[in-house]
Amino acid sequence: MPTLTILAPLDGWCAPLEEVPDPVFAGRLLGDGLAIDPVAGLVVAPCGGEVATVAAGGHAVSLRAEGGVDVLVHVGIDTVQLAGRGFEVLVRPGQTVAAGDALIRFDLDAVARAAKSLMTPVVVSAEAGLTIRARHAPGPVRAGEVLLELSGAAASAAAPARRAASAEATRVVTVGLRHGLHARPAALLSQRAREADAEVTIEAHGKRANARSVVALMALGVRHRDQISIHARGPGAAAALDALAAALEEALRVEAGAHPGAAAPPTGRAPRAAGARGDGGALAGVVAVPGYAVGVATRIERPEIDVREPGAGAAHESGELERARSIVRARLTRVGEVGGATRREIVAAHVEFLDDPLLNETAQELIASGKSAGYAWRAAIRRSIAVLQALGDERLRERADDLLDVESHVLFALAGEARPMNLPLPERAVLFADELLPSELVALDRERLVAICLAGGGATSHVAILAAAMDVPMLVGMGEAVREVAEGSTVVVDAEHGRLDVAPAREAVQAAERLAAARRAGRAAERAAAQADCRAADGTRIEVYANVGEVADAVAAVANGAEGCGLLRTEFLFIDRDRAPDEEEQLLAYQAVADALRGRPLVLRLMDVGGDKPLRYLPLPAEGNPALGLRGIRTALRRPDLLRTQLRAALRVAPPGAVRLLLPMITDVAELRAVRTIIAELCAELGGRPPPSIGVMLETPAAALTADHLAREADFLSIGSNDLTQYALAMDRGHPELAARIDALHPAVLKLVAAAAGAGTAVGRVVAVCGGVAADPAAVPLLIGLGVRELSVVPAAIPAVKRLVQSLTIADCAALAQRCLTLESAADVRAQVARTLPTAGGAR
Ligand code: PEP
Ligand code: MG
Repeated sequence: MPTLTILAPLDGWCAPLEEVPDPVFAGRLLGDGLAIDPVAGLVVAPCGGEVATVAAGGHAVSLRAEGGVDVLVHVGIDTVQLAGRGFEVLVRPGQTVAAGDALIRFDLDAVARAAKSLMTPVVVSAEAGLTIRARHAPGPVRAGEVLLELSGAAASAAAPARRAASAEATRVVTVGLRHGLHARPAALLSQRAREADAEVTIEAHGKRANARSVVALMALGVRHRDQISIHARGPGAAAALDALAAALEEALRVEAGAHPGAAAPPTGRAPRAAGARGDGGALAGVVAVPGYAVGVATRIERPEIDVREPGAGAAHESGELERARSIVRARLTRVGEVGGATRREIVAAHVEFLDDPLLNETAQELIASGKSAGYAWRAAIRRSIAVLQALGDERLRERADDLLDVESHVLFALAGEARPMNLPLPERAVLFADELLPSELVALDRERLVAICLAGGGATSHVAILAAAMDVPMLVGMGEAVREVAEGSTVVVDAEHGRLDVAPAREAVQAAERLAAARRAGRAAERAAAQADCRAADGTRIEVYANVGEVADAVAAVANGAEGCGLLRTEFLFIDRDRAPDEEEQLLAYQAVADALRGRPLVLRLMDVGGDKPLRYLPLPAEGNPALGLRGIRTALRRPDLLRTQLRAALRVAPPGAVRLLLPMITDVAELRAVRTIIAELCAELGGRPPPSIGVMLETPAAALTADHLAREADFLSIGSNDLTQYALAMDRGHPELAARIDALHPAVLKLVAAAAGAGTAVGRVVAVCGGVAADPAAVPLLIGLGVRELSVVPAAIPAVKRLVQSLTIADCAALAQRCLTLESAADVRAQVARTLPTAGGAR
């Protein structure tokens, strides 16, 4: 077991990091260690190693010690502001030093007068797998005395040691993002850093953060126009710098796209000081989601989750935390896959927090020191929240809610429970709470919820974004006054002008009810228009179906006007568990979706597993290229036991004929025949049921080009454009750098769609598209112009797709599609669509 001794680099007074007046150090976001309040102005090397970095102002030096451990000595707090005044650096990056060699000389008095504090943190990064076994007691310390003893696993120290041999590459960039390095860009950077074959750190305000940690990046407090240095070390250092710089540009483009031309942050409107009492008993709040509501004041209390402090052994607790995190990851991923774009983004942010290296390292350290998994996870989260809250940045403070949400998910999973859903609400509830977590909001009964009023919260918090997606008026930042609102009293929420009337006169109630009713009527009209069967302007019937992952989507689909479910992704039932769902469990799940569709057709896709969706209970040979390996129907035919169980469950859904089956990843007609044979056997086994309608997914170029054979034997065809595009363009659909180029409107993909649709219609088969392109306004005219007659899209997109289809004629679409087939690129196709049909639009 490797060990490392860190010596005191200064004479002074030793103190725990908590005493450092800087939340980043005190919260251990840059690593664990101790601080020294110096009494002399000389810093010596706390260990032997290579000088890894020297801050431009000369106030901090980090050494790369044996085993890849980084040791940072940061003289004083906010000393970056001195811009080098009073400091003399005696070493340069790359130089090898021995313990005790002089590193920095500084003018103690001058720096003491100018800096916020002289407290000098000495911290070690936990990345190398070493943890602190012993530390100097608080009190006087002399340079050269043992400050910290580290020990730990050798394996994790190996990689950084290899990287230590290479020099560090650095790029300085100015952050153009209007809100600085807030959660989303931080998440993007951390993703790129994790993909890099290099150790990447980001330095700002004289502090360095591990770029793989979103929490650490946010805690740097980087604001608009701040300069940051990206440092990378390792074989992929140059590529890592490019990737992170590109990620910053990408974040800037996303920001520009989200708020074109906007100069101010999209915060809510506050007509007067939030929480202040106005005339006639009204409270003021910040408008997070506009609207009006009259309802009954209702409070929700969050159940406190008890955790015990002592652990039952580090190995056990560490295993428990891993288990709980993987349960939560699976749950979150399932929720994200089937929700709308807003929900997906929020879930992605929560998964980032769940996997954040800094949070996990902190929790593991606490576990190693004898704490339970729950205690350690909560303490790690709370430390990060304290750091974010101390930064004085509203946007970063709002991320505390997300961290709390992730905390409670994990604590519940540790206790073997899921987050409680379905908190009871009375009719027309106006919800009052100090704060509300995103998952708490999602769990509420939308039908009963008319508005939300929060004492805290922010207009740009995730919970506000979700409330907007759910169209629930919301006031935030109302202060403690909301606690005085009597439970059960009638209140009027005016979330247009930021007012809450807690003692409304009859006229005020009536006026608000009229306004709320007018809004409801507007929404109902939109939905009602979407309930009608969809026809193009020339009367051609184009069916608009929904892609569904679970019963809640089916409910949303019907509310949004879906004419059926064109793709039930049954694999969600199979993944992230230790054994396959049995026939009864599957039947219940499929029946629930069929019931929610209230008689509309249900296209049930057989388990599309294997490849990028591995199953723990289905060992498959390791594959060099899983996208081209055992996926979809290939996996199902390799495990006929699983296939038969699923087919039996699907065939038993009532009423008979409600379910149509869809076979994923078909390459040739033999696969269809093999499944048909099994279905025929099972229909006989189940007492002679009529065989269901069976369709094939056209997701491989092979299937699209031989669709004539498939169409003769299948009952319908459904084009899976997501996979068809990745296989046609030979571009991984999840590849971040190819994301902008993987466009289903590439003429090559359109030609495959044309071949498939032509073959299907020639023999009278309905051809559907159930990939993401079906909801792309620029694609809709092309698809129907090529002969597609069914579009299956996410529920929220249905009204818009129907509206668009109703404005098109097949003849115009066909002419446009034929022109596009002759073009050179997806960009040309989009430009052509934009010119010909400005209402459809070609932009992506
Ligand atoms: C597709 O590939 O277009 C499709 C609908 O299937 P999935 O996205 O689930 O792979
Ligand atoms: Mg697919």
